[in-house]
Amino acid sequence: MKVLVAVKRVIDYNVKVRVKADGSAVETANVKFSMNPFDEIAIEEAVRLKEAGIATEVIAVSLGITAAQETLRTALAMGADRAIHVVTDLELQPLAVAKALKVIAAREQPGLIILGKQAIDDDANQTGQMLAALLNWAQGTFASKVVIADGTATVTREVDGGSETLALTLPAVITTDLRLNEPRYASLPNIMKAKKKPITAMTPEDLGVDLAPRLRTIKVTEPDKRQAGVKVPDVAALVDLLTNQARVI
Ligand code: AMP
Repeated sequence: MKVLVAVKRVIDYNVKVRVKADGSAVETANVKFSMNPFDEIAIEEAVRLKEAGIATEVIAVSLGITAAQETLRTALAMGADRAIHVVTDLELQPLAVAKALKVIAAREQPGLIILGKQAIDDDANQTGQMLAALLNWAQGTFASKVVIADGTATVTREVDGGSETLALTLPAVITTDLRLNEPRYASLPNIMKAKKKPITAMTPEDLGVDLAPRLRTIKVTEPDKRQAGVKVPDVAALVDLLTNQARVI
């Protein structure tokens, strides 16, 4: 069984994101980029399936500018066998990514597609769901445990107030939650080996999909600055403040 994993290049989670002066977008110049953390978990899960003899090949896919190749090299260094890069300068929205992944899935015929539950830049949490709908495949989102056996993926997923276990008939789409696994660091020998693994570059035209954005960003703003706190001398003053000023009790 082939496993396809979607990996996105995003602003590194340690970076304090700043909004451009004209409010059109966030600043990306001179900012560190990395693989979306949920996608690292997706690659880890796929590589574990290969190590367990369940997956035969792990294929990492990324859509984006030339630099997305670095993200694919990271996926290869973590253990993916080969990669596909859909090269485009367009602003990519979940529906466009899902459409492209659908065409790649039709060509590669994977038994499983693993995505992150959300990209930490757009926080959309939509691509996996849209992809499953377009393919008409079963979906297990926010997976915290995945067991594959006899053509079925048993997915434990986090829901309000507990967890739910679903049995998905393969092929299926799974999106990863934080608790699924702890991704490995790529070792130096594996980083070197990854340089020789193949990355196939293609254009949206090669796939025959229109990736043009359907949504327009009107404005991006920083969150309101937090107000400074106040010190109160005693409990009576605190209760008075909460009752008469904050009006929360
Ligand atoms: P989103 O729906 O944008 O929150 O993204 C959810 C997941 O879709 C990500 O964690 C990735 O696995 C995948 N994804 C989104 N955008 C891309 C992209 N440009 N290239 C590859 N995978 C992507």
